[in-house]
Amino acid sequence: MIEFREVSMTYASGIEALKEVSFRIESGEFVFIIGRSGSGKSTLIKLLTCEIAPSSGRVLIDDYDIGRIRRRHVPYLRRNVGMVFQDFRLIATKTVFENVAFAMEIIGASRKLVRRRVPIVLSIVGLRDKADSMPNQLSGGEQQRVAIARAMVNNPMLILADEPTGNLDPLNSESIMALLEEINRSGTTVIVCTHDTAIVDKMKRRVVEIEDGQVVRDVQAGEYGPGAR
Ligand code: ADP
Ligand code: MG
Repeated sequence: MIEFREVSMTYASGIEALKEVSFRIESGEFVFIIGRSGSGKSTLIKLLTCEIAPSSGRVLIDDYDIGRIRRRHVPYLRRNVGMVFQDFRLIATKTVFENVAFAMEIIGASRKLVRRRVPIVLSIVGLRDKADSMPNQLSGGEQQRVAIARAMVNNPMLILADEPTGNLDPLNSESIMALLEEINRSGTTVIVCTHDTAIVDKMKRRVVEIEDGQVVRDVQAGEYGPGAR
């Protein structure tokens, strides 16, 4: 369970990115966080990964206040969180296999487990035959699949995707979202920040809308457009 309880975030520049935001996400949910550029979506994500700490309020994961987490505990939290970004963020000098394996190696997985697990995850994302390719030999959609494989390889309880379809065409966007839904079906909580209207309207999932740092809408099976309000 994730809970934002009256969370405000003011950056050092003085910008108030979030203003007393409160909402809850249950374990196993699939949630879209929508809102125009600058509304505060990525700030919510950064709070969940402890990249930043709230100015006030609480960010709770399973009743544990991660806003007050000790620096040395952050890596343990991040083991349980998979991240997907708009710009993929693959390591250009590593193969597809190595990119995914790296996420296991940094948490100390054995070579045996890496050799067993990586091909399974690459199969799930449909890239088994690209294991030895370099990122620059792949399409954008394929690169994002590698990023998803990397995000899920350690069986995280939570996947955070910040504009995962921002650099993809509609067809690739759809298949990336289908993949995130499939991961969600296996029990992983999935949070997707996006302003991709087509996808939000099509998928009929819970929508939390942020405007100027405040939650202005929170609906089950939501749609993007203002007409849906
Ligand atoms: P979104 O992801 O919805 O586009 P962000 O959470 O990135 O929105 O940004 C919310 C507001 O906070 C914006 O006004 C943005 O300019 C500001 N902001 C984001 N990151 C920083 C930062 N590191 N320092 C100062 N201001 C920031
Ligand atoms: Mg953003």
